[in-house]
Amino acid sequence: MIIFGSAGKEIARDKIRAACTNCQEQNSITMYIVQRYTHIYWIPCFPAEKKAISECTNCNQVLETIQFPESYKSYYKNINLRTKTPLWMFTGLGIFAVIMVGAFIASQQNNTENTELVLLPKKGDIYEIKLSDEKYTLYKVDIVEGNAVYMLENEYITDKEEGMGELLLKPFYKESSPIMKSDLKIMLEKGEIIDIER
Ligand SMILES: [Zn+2]
Repeated sequence: MIIFGSAGKEIARDKIRAACTNCQEQNSITMYIVQRYTHIYWIPCFPAEKKAISECTNCNQVLETIQFPESYKSYYKNINLRTKTPLWMFTGLGIFAVIMVGAFIASQQNNTENTELVLLPKKGDIYEIKLSDEKYTLYKVDIVEGNAVYMLENEYITDKEEGMGELLLKPFYKESSPIMKSDLKIMLEKGEIIDIER
């Protein structure tokens, strides 16, 4: 379960010069800007609405943005314009972006590695193979002869990609059959070779 919520934080306050619409007192109004933000597991994630509230220190009348009289509005515009949403409210988005960029770089590095491995195969390399949807198995490099790579197929097939780790403990067929390096490269590009372990 993801724990998701929202909270508000006062990010600005200012005295305004307008008279209170309720008690007519001069210089008794304080305006607050409150920024709401969402949080996931109590980590601020991204900002939501920003709203203003006015409070009279004389009669305690509290007004929300839509209730502001004309005389409050220019003050509200001014305070609102110079009040920036604090950066810490984007913490969750920032963390997410860093994770995504990290995952992208890791996957690019893995792709480069796999391309190198497929061109210079070695006895014992393990290929994670997708035969079709929900059919995965392992190939093991037996012999490399020029452009031909003799592969030993695993005797078992699994229906889940994560299941391939367990296949390592299962036997491989004793007879290997050749696949051309150029075909292996195509299989890698098509995603039929998911990963190569050395
Ligand atoms: Zn008042």
